[in-house]
Amino acid sequence: MDLLSFSRPRGIDEALRILGRDRQAIPVAGSTDLVTLLRDGIRATSHLVDLNGLGLDEIHWLPGGGVRIGALVRNAVADTRLRRAYPVLAEALRSGASPQIRNRATFGGNVLQQTRCTYYRLPEFACNRRSPGSGCAAIQGDSSRHAIFGASNQCVAVHPSDLSVALQALEAVVLAQSTAGRRRIPVDAFFRLPGTTPHVASELRPGELITGIELPASDHAATSRYVKFRERTSYAFALVSAAVAIEVRDGVVRTARVALGGVAAKPWRSTAAEQALTGNRLTEETITAAGEAAADGARPLRHNKHKVELVKRVVRTALTDLEQA
Ligand code: SF4
Repeated sequence: MDLLSFSRPRGIDEALRILGRDRQAIPVAGSTDLVTLLRDGIRATSHLVDLNGLGLDEIHWLPGGGVRIGALVRNAVADTRLRRAYPVLAEALRSGASPQIRNRATFGGNVLQQTRCTYYRLPEFACNRRSPGSGCAAIQGDSSRHAIFGASNQCVAVHPSDLSVALQALEAVVLAQSTAGRRRIPVDAFFRLPGTTPHVASELRPGELITGIELPASDHAATSRYVKFRERTSYAFALVSAAVAIEVRDGVVRTARVALGGVAAKPWRSTAAEQALTGNRLTEETITAAGEAAADGARPLRHNKHKVELVKRVVRTALTDLEQA
């Protein structure tokens, strides 16, 4: 790694000016993903901009309800109020990594982490995401951990973040800022499917920073659950996961949010599963129907047909847990 300069700005405005001036500069915070990518030659820069110490590590409860979480709040956040109001968020974070990594990793970095596609992380393989136009080794190779929704003939990678799946179910908003101003981007619109430009993973523009994540107040957030299926019981990325939030009144599901992880290049919202739940009692039949609906439209690859069944099971497990709570 040939690192030539390291900037430590004293405020957000200074950081944005640096990033606006030098489009090759990369912002750095917890470094849990970026440093491995730089070390392995997957990403390169001559300029890192340290975001620590800029005041982005605070949690603000909003007067109208909801909460704003600074981009540099660590994934090991121990905020009881946050855990009670948004259990799915706490469960997703806890399932995501060891305590050591969670103590370093940040909310902003978690959302922006790169795919764990093996071929992306090994420069000797063709990868359109890493080197546009070079091909996709996964399509002809081992596709067992890859997408069953929203893939293209250019890239079949999945997004690895557990946190982002919870944020999708909570309809979070990403707060972004550059020298051109501030933007609020709903999580669903923030992540991009690969299409013909798999190297562009999100709507974040060059020179723009994530400054925070906003979670709206809702009647379903407090009744929420994250279920993750992985290849081993210690920390591993999800093969398939589900974040589910429901509001039940008088025994009937009034609102439902269902998001899936490990199945697409973005946290995948299943409106079909939500519709199967809404207006119905949370019975075994409804739960089974929601699981089936969540797998609607799946297009598995050669090696990942098992993910279709896993989708049904993680959704059923999450809903059954909520029904029995
Ligand atoms: Fe690269 Fe995407 Fe293909 Fe993986 S699936 S090798 S990330 S183009």
